Amino acid sequence: LAKLALPLARELTAPNGVKYTQPLGLFIDNKFVRSKSGDILATINPTNEEEITSVYAADVADVDTAVVAARAAFESPTWSELTPEARGRLLYRLADLIEENSKVLATIEMTYRDNGKPYSVCLAEDVLESIRVLRYYAGWADKIYGRTIDVGPRKLAYTLHQPIGVCGQIIPWNYPLMASWKLGPALATGNTVILKPAEQCPLSALYLANLVKETGFPPGVVNILPGYGDKAGAAIASHPGIDKIAFTGSTTTGSLVMKAASANLKNITLETGGKSPLIVFDDADLDQAVKWSHIGIMSNMGQICTATSRIFVQESIYERFIDAFKMQTEKISQIGDPFAESTFQGPQVSRKQWERVMAYIASGQSEGAKLVIGGTKHGDKGYFIAPTIFMNVEDHMVISREEIFGPVVTIASFKSEEEAVKRANKSNYGLGAAIFTQNMTRAHKVAAKIQAGMVWINSSNDSHFGIPFGGVKQSGIGQELGEYALSAYTNAKAVHVNLGTML
Ligand code: NAD
Repeated sequence: LAKLALPLARELTAPNGVKYTQPLGLFIDNKFVRSKSGDILATINPTNEEEITSVYAADVADVDTAVVAARAAFESPTWSELTPEARGRLLYRLADLIEENSKVLATIEMTYRDNGKPYSVCLAEDVLESIRVLRYYAGWADKIYGRTIDVGPRKLAYTLHQPIGVCGQIIPWNYPLMASWKLGPALATGNTVILKPAEQCPLSALYLANLVKETGFPPGVVNILPGYGDKAGAAIASHPGIDKIAFTGSTTTGSLVMKAASANLKNITLETGGKSPLIVFDDADLDQAVKWSHIGIMSNMGQICTATSRIFVQESIYERFIDAFKMQTEKISQIGDPFAESTFQGPQVSRKQWERVMAYIASGQSEGAKLVIGGTKHGDKGYFIAPTIFMNVEDHMVISREEIFGPVVTIASFKSEEEAVKRANKSNYGLGAAIFTQNMTRAHKVAAKIQAGMVWINSSNDSHFGIPFGGVKQSGIGQELGEYALSAYTNAKAVHVNLGTML
């Protein structure tokens, strides 16, 4: 790692003219600070492969400092004795500040500057979603209920739902503002947080840190530490002073995190990878099935954990579906400048991801799948990939089994409902699954049989902050969003009160 005397903030002007101050330090105890080692990391613009800026990168010693701050905040009356209503007000205020800063956030963190996502998508979807999620959890802050349990007249028994403590939250690069999915329920329930954004996209989270401070959260309640996974991430996962880990990322890393977290038996939730199936029965509304399945794999450059990347189409409509899917992909294929209004697809996040996706495309071809369209680099500069469709794909092929995380879809055919379910379930993953049919009896039957944390009937990747989000098998443990996320951030304590005189 390079060691430079970086400032703690830098004025930047985006190509769309937006000027802003980008924090570059680690955010600990409501202050931006340099990493103890002086380590930094560079963030690269995926549109032109140039460096945007560097930021400080946390290591073990910085995680130690953040844990001390987060523990002190957790125990301090300024946070622990705050009324639930006041915690909710802080979250509402944070959401308001994100709203006021939404153009800057969409500009700096997810567009050309950091994640290569089209600007309009960032503004309309990611930033808005993060505001809505925080408001949703702000509303929950004063609605955390324990229970009384009737075990007879000699005893009063009840539960208290209490915060877990210091929570380590590790997030990936594909949705940097996913930070709000993690901060919302953790803070609504009274925990303190050390959040590590992905090394590819730390800028948004640092900008958010400024807003956390402006909101008036007490020092140490939210700490944000950019850094590499094997350093800052590993230090958070294994730290004995951290009580809970909420991780989103690949299954391979999730398994490492789980192992590290086992040292002090941390409470753990994992949101990991997927290879989600989408089944189209021959009675489906074909137009709808094509539109949703296109969105399900091609949006966000295919970099969605729930991407419906394995499409199974009933034999009699297989060729028709492929023709229509190809037409839809060609129609909605504006690739390029994330600031252009018409852009649908920006670059992949990094050279490494670009190379990985291109290697999967080569493997599909060498294993004998038929390339319908795409399969090539797009343009001379930036990490762009032409949307890619494979047909005549078999289940044993690598492209059918492994998560590609790019604009690449496999389309296979099936004969019967039973076969479709069996093949859809033939995966180590179990994140999302989509079913297209007009026969609702069949739809509900298949939904019950599919091994997945989420099933969409006649849609794909349709999430909502009030509905739980999570996976089964190697796609994760526990759930985010909705009321379910509250139990991921609370311990239920049982209290037994003796009302009799036994003993
Ligand atoms: P990744 O696993 O490489 O990294 C995720 C995070 O973990 C990053 O912050 C990284 O720095 C950190 N990390 C890396 N090594 C670590 C270690 N040894 N200990 C602790 N932390 C470590 O994943 P990625 O490439 O950033 O993201 C893509 C993956 O994320 C895909 O597999 C995708 O399916 C998954 N994902 C899942 C969901 C979900 O909700 N299920 C959502 C988004 C992304």
